[in-house]
Amino acid sequence: MTRYIKESEICELTQALVKQPTVNPPGDTKECANIIADYFHKNRIEAELLDCKNGIVNVVAKYTGTKSGKTLLLNGHMDVVAPGKEWTVDPFGGEIQDGKMYGRGTCDMKSGIAAMAAAMVGFKRSKKKFNGEIILMAVGDEETGSQFGTRYLLEQKIGLNADFAIVTEPTDLKLELGNRGLRWIDLSITGKACHAGRPHLGINAIEYGARLIDAIRTFKPKIRNDKFEPSLSSLSVTQISGGTQANVIPNQCRITLDRRMLPGETTETVMSELSNIIDSAALSDVTIDIEMRPNFWDPYLISESEPIVQTIKNSYKKIIGKNPLIGTKPACTDGSHLFHIGKIPALLFGPGLPALSHQVNEYVPLRNIYLATDIFIDAFEKLLR
Ligand SMILES: [Zn+2]
Repeated sequence: MTRYIKESEICELTQALVKQPTVNPPGDTKECANIIADYFHKNRIEAELLDCKNGIVNVVAKYTGTKSGKTLLLNGHMDVVAPGKEWTVDPFGGEIQDGKMYGRGTCDMKSGIAAMAAAMVGFKRSKKKFNGEIILMAVGDEETGSQFGTRYLLEQKIGLNADFAIVTEPTDLKLELGNRGLRWIDLSITGKACHAGRPHLGINAIEYGARLIDAIRTFKPKIRNDKFEPSLSSLSVTQISGGTQANVIPNQCRITLDRRMLPGETTETVMSELSNIIDSAALSDVTIDIEMRPNFWDPYLISESEPIVQTIKNSYKKIIGKNPLIGTKPACTDGSHLFHIGKIPALLFGPGLPALSHQVNEYVPLRNIYLATDIFIDAFEKLLR
């Protein structure tokens, strides 16, 4: 099937990456980054390691054409979430059964990294002339906000000049044109503690927290976008804590909110909406501190007419023989940062099955990795004429 690179080579590369336990936190990607850089060096493609913070090592590889031209950026994250305990196979074994490779990160998203790295090598072996440059970023820190991964590299101006990008997050080879945004907000309510035998002498922070939660439940999203599923933004209470012991009126209640956003919503719109909700709850007896966490993703959506979308669509048709599905991603990706920091139209397209991300016994169908590699090799030539 693949003309310039053997399936066994792509499979072995994926397996080598999966065998590295790059669990985040702490998110140590050093060994995994070394494997990727070595693979490029062996194939005489320039690759550099960037040690950003406490073992968060990013890889940047470059393959340059004969003349100047467009720049294609390929992006994927090496870090994975913790596997948990219920696995029936070794989460870092990369075992293969019935055409599927099992392991944490097979789907999200080391198979995506392997497909694009192998495609760069395959494209080089094809000796096809091209103009411009392919830059591959394999990053860490994605599962915890990308501060030392993609965001760091863009701030260092790496890949910032790209004309288009592909992020190989799991999409089951569906073309995804953007993702919803996300803010996490911590609310801290301070009342007054006192003996629970005389509750009227205190101010019960948990009771005020309950009042606030009631107000949050009246939230009605203002924006609807049918390109997204779900098509409405959301505001959910995801964590709550408070109180010190059974016989003390609590002076503290902490509530965490998860706010999913659609294009058109920003930090400012989210905060002004929240402040209206808080006002409506009449909480003047307590103080409320509002803190937005430093990890954030902005919503984004690119047009189907973008060259990166059209090219991958045509290569998909050529390799697979039918039209691809087109949609968007409900979860957040580094595509947000590429789009908002770098102004780069970023397509999400990868071999993993999105429903298996962060799941027990995660796997990837090997065939999907080989197809993604073929589609990329075909698309490189068309994008970088
Ligand atoms: Zn991911």
